[in-house]
Amino acid sequence: MRKPAERAAIGRMLLALVPPALALLCATSGPFRAPQEKAPTRIEFHESEAVDLWFHVRAVAGSRATPIEALAPAVEAAQELHRALARDALAWGAVEGLLPGAERASDIVAAFVRAPESIELPGGAKAPVRAGAQKLAAALAQAEPAFAETWKEHALRTRAARERWQATVGPKERELIAFHLASLGMRDPNLAIPVYLVADASWPGAVTHLDEAGRGVCFVAVDTEPGSLLFETVLHEATHALDVATNDDSALGALRKKLEAAGHGPRDKLYHDLPHALMFVQAAESVRRVIDPAHVDYGESEKVYERMGASAEAVRGFWHDHLDGHLTLDQALDGIVASLEPAPK
Ligand SMILES: [Zn+2]
Repeated sequence: MRKPAERAAIGRMLLALVPPALALLCATSGPFRAPQEKAPTRIEFHESEAVDLWFHVRAVAGSRATPIEALAPAVEAAQELHRALARDALAWGAVEGLLPGAERASDIVAAFVRAPESIELPGGAKAPVRAGAQKLAAALAQAEPAFAETWKEHALRTRAARERWQATVGPKERELIAFHLASLGMRDPNLAIPVYLVADASWPGAVTHLDEAGRGVCFVAVDTEPGSLLFETVLHEATHALDVATNDDSALGALRKKLEAAGHGPRDKLYHDLPHALMFVQAAESVRRVIDPAHVDYGESEKVYERMGASAEAVRGFWHDHLDGHLTLDQALDGIVASLEPAPK
């Protein structure tokens, strides 16, 4: 989405290009509007000191490291909120979805006025959010001046990661995303997917939450991922945003439907794990087939497939057969579901 001022400038530019008679007509018949082609989906990187500070504090809070003195109250507030959220990384979405646009800690303080008072955790328990989030935001504002030095070094790291993407993926980004969308049976939702690069973050190091408009916003830590892993991580998180935007009209949605029909409904772990495994497999394949033939799956190097077990291997096998043209999308998904143990009655 362009800013209104920018849009107006573009409108004026187009107006200058049309023949005078038409321009006159336009001038008398309301604002000139050229038919606009929607831009294909792309990644829109962001770096922000406040967002970096946020994730740095969360990373320190989740580690055994002793924070520098100025950060200690913020780290403590983050630990408190983490306990209140039953240590559920995804529950943080209730507040982290409010971070986009924050440049300074004071922006986070202002945004958290809109945080929900409480949320319901997956188990059904209610967790208080707003008070703890506001305490954390206030502590961040106190810590911000002392963070300036760290930020200088962090900014170099996030900038280096962005430059690595631009040098290696940049020239092929359109091709990468087009292949990824086509493989997942998605129509292009014409998104500019926001990806905040941060220097460090607590487990799992990258996450996608819904922003206030219900769009996926991705946060990716850049420090532990050398080589092409960063590219897969960014694409994987972007896939979550695409999944939200395409509203089940995709291979992911079709897999969920087939799982449900086989008795593995939303309360079944497989209902969430298998589409997620498919995201891992496809993001790795997209990077390997379009960007770097030597790419090794994040799922392999970080042992995600091993932890998921046989079902992840089934996804990999059937999906590779599909991408190689041996199975239709439907046959591959049916194969995945048929390979599962029958759902408990
Ligand atoms: Zn994921």
